[in-house]
Amino acid sequence: MLKLFHIRGKTTTADGHQKTPIWILNLLVLPQNIYSGVELLLFDPRPKTSRSELFGRDRELELLHANIDVPVITISGIRRIGKTSLLNVFLSEVDIPSVIVDLRDLRANYGLRDLYSLLSKAFSSGLDRLHDLLRSISGISIKGVEVEIKWKGRGALTLSSLFDALNRRRIIIAFDEAQKLRGPRSQEFLNALAHAYDYDRNITFILTGSEVGLLYGLLGIDKPGSPLYGRYCFNLKLERFNEDVSREFLEAGFKELGMDVEREVIEKAVEEFDGIPGWLTFFGNEYARGSRDIDRIKKLAVDIALRELENIVRERGRRYAYLLKGIAEGVRTWNSLKRYVEEKEGTVISSSILHNILKNLEDMSIIYNYQFLDPIYREASLRVRAD
Ligand code: ADP
Ligand code: MG
Repeated sequence: MLKLFHIRGKTTTADGHQKTPIWILNLLVLPQNIYSGVELLLFDPRPKTSRSELFGRDRELELLHANIDVPVITISGIRRIGKTSLLNVFLSEVDIPSVIVDLRDLRANYGLRDLYSLLSKAFSSGLDRLHDLLRSISGISIKGVEVEIKWKGRGALTLSSLFDALNRRRIIIAFDEAQKLRGPRSQEFLNALAHAYDYDRNITFILTGSEVGLLYGLLGIDKPGSPLYGRYCFNLKLERFNEDVSREFLEAGFKELGMDVEREVIEKAVEEFDGIPGWLTFFGNEYARGSRDIDRIKKLAVDIALRELENIVRERGRRYAYLLKGIAEGVRTWNSLKRYVEEKEGTVISSSILHNILKNLEDMSIIYNYQFLDPIYREASLRVRAD
């Protein structure tokens, strides 16, 4: 029932109209046993938490189960491909206590205090299964439902000693969006991870990353001199759904809600959202809530992507905007892109700077080889502003 309320609370559209959620009416006239179907809302916009809600990822789950004893596992893939969902579902299925450290909000030049506060939060939410273990670690205190970690001064807990202490039991420690750990403190994290890799055989680390180049750059597995150099990790790359799976996903989602949606609508959505589960879910959810105009739904998606791109431009500079725009407009070669940016900016820019920007955008998994990895970001880039 919780989920019903969750979606119910969102029946006001972006332009302020109250919509009658047709699917709720449908549910109400379905036989009683269908109510269990409410648990299976494929179009729930939150990351999924159980296998029954996770579409088309059985193979990936089996691979994770088969590699559970590898010390470091990575799950990579573009934004909204379903990494957090896969991680949640996997952890719900293994009989090993786990914590998920959500790094999405870690700021770029984070300090130890920032990192430890996210660790505390992660431990607090896994407290029921980890209470005894955490209680026995000096530097950690449990205050009611909150876990406090001493990060500075006498008796402070270093990351390495934290991992060593957690190693007393079998445990999985997941870092969601681990590329966020880049920064002045990354060395400390990597040293602790490498130490745990060698000595803490009871810990499995799972690292996810949307910015794939940045994640592997951080880990430096093939970089001589990096603490993790040469260590074997199991890397799982999440791919988008193919057209058939996308179609089946949308059909299954609408069927769950008792909605009969025309084939053309499904086909158009399959085409526009390019097999990216997060956008397909977004589309399904909007449509089910009463929005019947695919172009409008797509525009809402583009708006979301645009806000993300504008953040990048704000942080990194307007040349990023010119480059994104140029590639979105179809500029496909180095020389023409350089000319494009120079025209827009009115200055001659050095090749190495342009090269860096291009490489960063690739490492952030926004473009590859002068193409966007997600068509929604391409459209957003046409609208991105440079000022
Ligand atoms: P990521 O962590 O890669 O950005 P999420 O796990 O947050 O992606 O998923 C993005 C959105 O897509 C969420 O609404 C989630 O519910 C949905 N989603 C992703 N993968 C699946 C899947 N395999 N089946 C059903 N929904 C999915
Ligand atoms: Mg995620």
